[in-house]
Amino acid sequence: MRTYVEIDLARVMENVRVIASQLPEGTALYGAMKADAYGHGAVEVARAAKKAGLAGCCVASAEEGEELIASGIGLPVLLLGRLLPEDEERAVELGLEFNVFDPAQVARVNAIAGRLQKKARVHAKLDTGMHRLGMDSDEGVSAMIAALGSAPNVTLEGVFSHLSSADDERAYTLMQKEKFDHWVKMFRGAGFTFKTHLQNTPGIFNYPGMGYDIARPGIGIYGYGYGFDTGKLRPALSWYARVLQVRELAAGETVSYNRTFRAERPMTLACIAAGYADGYKRCLSSRGEVLIAGRRCKVVGRVCMDLTMVDVTGVPAAPGDWATLLGTDGGETIDATELAGLCGTINYEILTSIHDKRVPRKYVGGGA
Ligand SMILES: *Cc1c(COP(=O)(O)O)cnc(C)c1O
Repeated sequence: MRTYVEIDLARVMENVRVIASQLPEGTALYGAMKADAYGHGAVEVARAAKKAGLAGCCVASAEEGEELIASGIGLPVLLLGRLLPEDEERAVELGLEFNVFDPAQVARVNAIAGRLQKKARVHAKLDTGMHRLGMDSDEGVSAMIAALGSAPNVTLEGVFSHLSSADDERAYTLMQKEKFDHWVKMFRGAGFTFKTHLQNTPGIFNYPGMGYDIARPGIGIYGYGYGFDTGKLRPALSWYARVLQVRELAAGETVSYNRTFRAERPMTLACIAAGYADGYKRCLSSRGEVLIAGRRCKVVGRVCMDLTMVDVTGVPAAPGDWATLLGTDGGETIDATELAGLCGTINYEILTSIHDKRVPRKYVGGGA
């Protein structure tokens, strides 16, 4: 094997418990399992997280939802994006919950559910300031209330919204909460009974007392976050790649495409079996570091599609050794936040960029 990731399910479970401990007793956690659980494997992560008390899963497409339901996860699965018209029948059949903000969709799924003699379970999506998806006015909410009122085969399970800046902007977040509470009151005033949810991971840690029925943590389950104290969360994913060759380079010689790196003095170079097609981003060229034998080794020259060269001068590296791209070796740790900083992005993108077909996943820590 040239490269693989290892996912510690015990850490997933631990992180779920840490997140739950932030919130009032009885708050249900619907974990974000979209993008194959942020690159960790949705089915395995959901099973482990369920053992730690996870009460539901959130996904981004009908396909992701179907995978979890078909696995027999036995938890509500909520589609956060928009259920596309061609997926409506399948969603109702499977019992996939989905968000609605379009009254015409409510009428359509009501007819489908009637025909299938099932209930369509929906969560009304409010746009309180993210300006991505959702209803953003009293008129929109009233129209939804009317649509739901004449849709006997549609059950309103939840009313929810999404915070844009819970990691960095208190005033804006509180404005979003205020709008949310106002529209929730309209639904309640119309006689509906449902669950409310607003918080993502930074929303949970920075506003633990919001008191809604459900919270939707994503990144925290995987051991990351930003804009709050992540002290008790621990990354669940480690990433390893094989050392393929080790050799000496003379002063003045150059490394990789376009010769952007030149050896100042004689050095030892290792070539490792991961590149940007695996998700080891090209922006780490001559910037990133990997761990070999417990030591930090600098990436030198351009990261290639399948291969990356690192400086192992003075490090006991040999072909066949494993380099740690993410994780801990000896006293050193490299995490996705460090790589994200070097690439001008966020740890979410580093994790979800790891290519699942090229980088097999190994699970440890029981649970699955
Ligand atoms: C992805 C997502 C979440 C989880 O966000 P994190 O920042 O990873 O905790 C919650 N709600 C919605 C609507 C999302 O799209």
